Amino acid sequence: MSTTSPETTTQQEWLGRYSASLMNTFGTPQRVLVRGEGAYVWDADGNRYLDLLAGIAVNALGHAHPAVLKAVSEQLGTLGHVSNLFTTEQQVTLAERLLGLLGAEGKVFFANSGTEANEAALKLTRRTGRTRLVAATGSFHGRTMGALALTSKEAYRAPFEPLPGEVTFVPYGDPDALRAAVDETVAAVVLEPIQGEAGAVEPGPGYLVAAREVTAAHGALLWLDEIQTGIGRTGAWFAHTAAGVVPDVVTLAKGLGGGLPIGACLAVGAAADLLQPGNHGTTFGGNPVAAAAAHAVLDTIEAEGLLERATVTGERLRAGLADHPFVTDTSGAGLLVGVGLAEAVAPQVQQEVLARGVVINAAAPDRLRLVPPLILTEDQADAAVAVVRAVLDTYATGQETDA
Ligand SMILES: *Cc1c(COP(=O)(O)O)cnc(C)c1O
Repeated sequence: MSTTSPETTTQQEWLGRYSASLMNTFGTPQRVLVRGEGAYVWDADGNRYLDLLAGIAVNALGHAHPAVLKAVSEQLGTLGHVSNLFTTEQQVTLAERLLGLLGAEGKVFFANSGTEANEAALKLTRRTGRTRLVAATGSFHGRTMGALALTSKEAYRAPFEPLPGEVTFVPYGDPDALRAAVDETVAAVVLEPIQGEAGAVEPGPGYLVAAREVTAAHGALLWLDEIQTGIGRTGAWFAHTAAGVVPDVVTLAKGLGGGLPIGACLAVGAAADLLQPGNHGTTFGGNPVAAAAAHAVLDTIEAEGLLERATVTGERLRAGLADHPFVTDTSGAGLLVGVGLAEAVAPQVQQEVLARGVVINAAAPDRLRLVPPLILTEDQADAAVAVVRAVLDTYATGQETDA
């Protein structure tokens, strides 16, 4: 961390004004940030941080990437917003491009966020004529009422019940539980290929294949929520490609716009025609500025080989932390990295790592999540590992005898 001359308004003052003027849905923000560049951000007191959170797996190209800046400012200076009563070249070519990456015939609905992409998918499933849905424990699908109905975390759900729909939760990663839950009344099974908010939890080999088989056997849709795992995060355009399955519906958001708000619901084959005129809509969704940003993200991932790089840097982060005596396991793929801790101290570890100039996330009481920008260098990965290890050292005394 470097300290420059103090700004006129300090972080403490901003946080006081924050709590007086913003609804208390997030608790106290960790810092007031003023600037970002590449993999670094700066707070209002002039401290610099290496950012291994990237706006929660959003800033795929880091902060202030010139390609995104150029695409957005040129588009905004040309045509910024038109509504969906009109279309633009940027929107059409982005839909074509995403379907090309998916490698399937289909159609796209654009939204502004992850939860909205999932709402579109949820409405699409209703058009099958069936209403039951099967989701997994540990899932996170968003905070609007429909997406919340598919999110398993009790603390998020309980204050808002009754939630819409008939949702059956099955243990994540258990193919037999899926087989037992899916029958002719199920419209769709919705799964994350790797559970992001849970801390990069993997379902085990064969799970997505089993999900594809059981849904196909009962005429249910397989809907994969790739809002966190998609667009390069796991070292591939889509995390499910590794399992060799073709889903009916894929939802995207976080990394797609490089920081601009955009979501997408991709539907394959017959599912692509379930939503018909009047069934759904959005004023902002797929606007040309967000679409131009997404094109810049896809262009840069391709031009700079960021899929391969995510795989290499992700393995380097895991390898750098896996042998620490306080670490129980590492998980995930590419730059979706989970780190299990021997005790439920992840929130404290997050805070102490932040105080030493690195942003990471406590995804669960005993699990850290690292979702850095895909442009993270190996040197930056090593620097982050050194800081996290130094903090974990202070916890590891009790574990050393077992190691
Ligand atoms: C973040 C996330 C969402 C919700 O996205 P928002 O943009 O916050 O609405 C949904 N599903 C998954 C898997 C996510 O990681």
